[in-house]
Amino acid sequence: MKPRIFYTKPSITEKEVEYATDAARNGWGDRCYEYINRFEEAFKKHLGVKYAIATSSCTGALHMGMAALGIGPGDEVIMADTNWIATASPIVHLGAKPVFVDILPDSWCLDPAQVEKAITPRTKAIVAVHLYGNLCELDELLAIGEKHGIPVIEDAAEAIGSVYHGKRVGSIGKFGAFSFHGTKTLTTGEGGMFVTNDAELYEHVLTLSNHGRARGQTKQFWPDMVGFKYKMSNIQAAIGCAQIERIEELTQRKRAIFAHYRNRLTVLPGLSMNPEPADTVNGAWMPTAVFDAGTGIAREQLQAAFAEENIDARVFFWPLSSLPPFEAVSGNVHAYQIPGKAINLPSYHDITENELDRVVQTLFALYRKLGLIK
Ligand SMILES: *Cc1c(COP(=O)(O)O)cnc(C)c1O
Repeated sequence: MKPRIFYTKPSITEKEVEYATDAARNGWGDRCYEYINRFEEAFKKHLGVKYAIATSSCTGALHMGMAALGIGPGDEVIMADTNWIATASPIVHLGAKPVFVDILPDSWCLDPAQVEKAITPRTKAIVAVHLYGNLCELDELLAIGEKHGIPVIEDAAEAIGSVYHGKRVGSIGKFGAFSFHGTKTLTTGEGGMFVTNDAELYEHVLTLSNHGRARGQTKQFWPDMVGFKYKMSNIQAAIGCAQIERIEELTQRKRAIFAHYRNRLTVLPGLSMNPEPADTVNGAWMPTAVFDAGTGIAREQLQAAFAEENIDARVFFWPLSSLPPFEAVSGNVHAYQIPGKAINLPSYHDITENELDRVVQTLFALYRKLGLIK
């Protein structure tokens, strides 16, 4: 068996180990928030936002932000059908309903025309998920939100490093949420970040994030409301501090891996990859190949070909509405068709030229086997 090629794997250097060790040794007592504060400051600076709150996950950041916007029973939140369930879960936990709409065929992100059609008097928010680092049509989504008085939330879990018209994504909507799960470009093992430029929303989420204890509250053990417990630990934040110092290196490497695949693979007929429209930067978290129906290439063939080579390539997200907790929205044509003819390619920081070559050769071999090329 050839050596395994992993799908994602964090890049942990001496710096991360040094900071985490320092946090474990010294980050207690009156120093127990030092790395958390430092990580939040560095993240704010990187993103160009006024406020940031480190959290235990992106899911937690979304949950608190949505709760602070007053989303609750009977409300609807519009989001793309193509996504990880983490964006939908907080909506369900708040007693509201995720309304799944179709994606655009090229960016695999929310189709603004479908969003507009899905708006009802119960719509409380639109969640723009920058899938795999690809950019949502933010100008159009913000205009729709403005017209109907509905906030646009950015789930930028997969999009650190992505830039839309000169602004880093996550900094543009009512609030943004990031994930530092072990598979993401910047990792703290588990972790996330809530970001916003809205002072009032920030104060509300800050209180929620501290079990409902308001910042100015002088009484001990005195919550002013029922809140959440989604905090990041100082040790995780120490790893985050090292990673954010390396953010240019981490995102440039992702982009280089993506560029390598794009150069080598898009010569194959009927194969397309993540787009990068003018005036945007794709953070390239997840290089993904989608095959035209004309090639006849199907997910199961791709999985078998990569498994044979001991390469961990993953399937494109199933439409959430096709999963057991939800009701099918079969009119979401692209969300239902694309996963059947697509695959995520390995893209971890330390992947070698030789490994990238093995991935490329696997697809060339499949094309040859199917008689699509000579
Ligand atoms: C990873 C991910 C999340 C969840 O992040 P956690 O930190 O695991 O909660 C949410 N949304 C998207 C789009 C993701 O990819």
